[in-house]
Amino acid sequence: MEFGKDKELVMRHCKKCAMPDTRPGSIFDEKGVCQACRNYEKRRTIDWEKRKEQLAKICDKYRREDGYYDCVIPVSGGKDSHFLVHTMKVEMGMNPLLITIGDPFTKTDAGLKNYRNLGETFSCDHILFNLSIDLFRRVTRIAFEELGEPLKFVEASIYTVPMKMSIKMGIPLVVFGENSAYEYGSTEEQSYSATEYILRIFKAIDVDFWLQRGVSIKEVNAIIPPIEEELKECKPEVIFMSYFSPWSSTIHLGIAKRYGFRDLAHEWRREGCIEDFEQIDSVAYMVHLWLKYPKFGFQRTSDIASRRVREGKISLFQAERLIMEHDHKLDQRAMEDFINFLGYTPKEFWDIVERFWNRKIFEKVDGTWKLKNPVYKDLIESKKNA
Ligand SMILES: [Zn+2]
Repeated sequence: MEFGKDKELVMRHCKKCAMPDTRPGSIFDEKGVCQACRNYEKRRTIDWEKRKEQLAKICDKYRREDGYYDCVIPVSGGKDSHFLVHTMKVEMGMNPLLITIGDPFTKTDAGLKNYRNLGETFSCDHILFNLSIDLFRRVTRIAFEELGEPLKFVEASIYTVPMKMSIKMGIPLVVFGENSAYEYGSTEEQSYSATEYILRIFKAIDVDFWLQRGVSIKEVNAIIPPIEEELKECKPEVIFMSYFSPWSSTIHLGIAKRYGFRDLAHEWRREGCIEDFEQIDSVAYMVHLWLKYPKFGFQRTSDIASRRVREGKISLFQAERLIMEHDHKLDQRAMEDFINFLGYTPKEFWDIVERFWNRKIFEKVDGTWKLKNPVYKDLIESKKNA
């Protein structure tokens, strides 16, 4: 049986990093190694100095003398955002306009401080775009109940809003951070241009889906992509920073902390997660991430553990242990924030989640869904035999 081909039937894991082939779009080679590992190996052969020069050339093309904004950076406030602004403003001498798409879930202290810190420490103008709270509540409920993907609407606007703003405001360059398709291994192609990637996202936005479910035409502005003529006429260049600089959460964390970035270490130990410095601003956001678990059999801990294996920070064995201990857990505080905001009881929440357990990869044992073929199978066996 080939890797990745029979993902409907079984769940197989990368021999090197433990990442499962149930990740949508994942590619595995004949040796059972995932494309994310292969892409990571390529880093050693890349001339990063040269790529930095390439970035400098792109910046030279767009840097303005009249003081107007020369690039848009969509930011969340996280460590990667700090790294992006550091690179564009401090290293490249650009004058970025920062744009954040907010969500109305409860914010952590660290999240609030980081968001504020970003504009303040780098002296950047910063636009916060909030969807109507009433709309957010409705579309999030719809997407949770029907797709098991609560933030689908908001996530579309993360791309549409900054792109439309750059066009309308005549800002010629948009800088996104990580090319997740490449870093997580659903493509072998690495390109600095994010245009194709963005166009694919725009194409996949289904405005009718929302209209058919009672969202009014006046409420879908945030997810309507710019029209083709606008894109052609203004042609903002869209780039991925991860092409120009080896993407590393720990390096970014170090840089971000020097600028005043705060992690969650003194605030909240999150269940189901093995770090405290990613996706930390919004309490309920963890629920959106966790919902990958019933659908695909893995979530944040798997993502982070396999990345750490690739980076040589932990062994495959250690990754398996972490995945076994943490990956299935949904953080209680995140869930409570989620259901309180959206108006569900815990029972209603779990009844909805029940629909999404992927019966091909999970089985119910004593009332609990268990993976049929977890990556830590050997660990369980050895415990039994001990
Ligand atoms: Zn791998």
